[in-house]
Amino acid sequence: MNQTGYDIAIVGAGPAGMTAALYALRAGKTVLLLEGQAYGGQIIQSPKVENYPGAPEIGGVELAEQMMGQIRALGVEMIAESVQRIHPEDNRFRMETFAHVYTASAVILATGVGHRKLGVPGEEALIGRGVSFCATCDGMFFRRREVAVVGGGNTAVQDALVLAEICSKVYLIHRRDSFRAEAHLMERVRSSEKIEIIPDTVVTAIRGEMRLESLTLRNTKSGEECELAVAGLFEAVGTLPQNAAFADAVALDAEGYIPTDADCMTATPGIFAAGDCRQKAVRQLTTATADGTVAALAAVEWLNRAR
Ligand code: NAP
Repeated sequence: MNQTGYDIAIVGAGPAGMTAALYALRAGKTVLLLEGQAYGGQIIQSPKVENYPGAPEIGGVELAEQMMGQIRALGVEMIAESVQRIHPEDNRFRMETFAHVYTASAVILATGVGHRKLGVPGEEALIGRGVSFCATCDGMFFRRREVAVVGGGNTAVQDALVLAEICSKVYLIHRRDSFRAEAHLMERVRSSEKIEIIPDTVVTAIRGEMRLESLTLRNTKSGEECELAVAGLFEAVGTLPQNAAFADAVALDAEGYIPTDADCMTATPGIFAAGDCRQKAVRQLTTATADGTVAALAAVEWLNRAR
């Protein structure tokens, strides 16, 4: 750390944060990258990334490692701490973690999103005991067992395909009969002998003593209820922003996302937001890295103008 702290602090080491670091470092700025969990964000839960231009098929972990290798080589300071609070002080920003206080002249928030939960009885007690949010991480625990995935987006469908390679049977439970997942993924699901789609159905309870034993399902059209015995439940029902800790520092919209201008600047001069944490329509890997680029270059320009 130099005498006055860092030029730019980036909160979150997913693709948006790592790309922002790349551009800020290449612009000659000192960069602190703070991440409380594993670096890589959501892509590390993806066994195969197939929509990143120039890399038709790459493992999510491998892509994250390559991004990190690239910024480490440029001298990024990576600290494995989670930022609890940000506040301005003497033309700088103070970032408090549980252990330390760091300062920077500009901040880029790239906090991504967290998992939405179903919020049904039994869920909390059985998380980690059969209920999971990551098929790539936990799928092997259910080898040759019957499992269910709930959700109708790309994550749910990719999870079902991953689990079909490992498990004896995969039920894909969705509250409607049409899926928002990409058509080519749905084709693979429909041609899998191991995946059974259960449409128009919601999970109303998750049951089990020490471990998950069964799900209570309700058909949304007929209202009929039934019990489905499974060893694992993979929840993939979307994402939620995790910006509440920064509500004093930046404005949030009604859903908790961070509004920005076209340069990724928030309503607080000097604080930028990039990636899924930002208010926007399309949340993809490519839009996350694009945001990281825009936010970093805007932060660099903002710093250069301020001096
Ligand atoms: P998503 O696209 O928001 O899909 C969430 C799914 O969960 C929807 O099908 C939704 O149903 C369902 N759902 C929401 N709340 C529910 C509830 N309480 N009970 C039951 N079902 C519920 O989320 P995602 O699949 O995690 O994807 C998030 C973003 O990342 C998307 O932009 C996605 O395209 C992107 N992504 C892309 C890839 C890729 O390879 N291209 C991979 C993963 C994620 P409805 O459809 O009825 O709303």
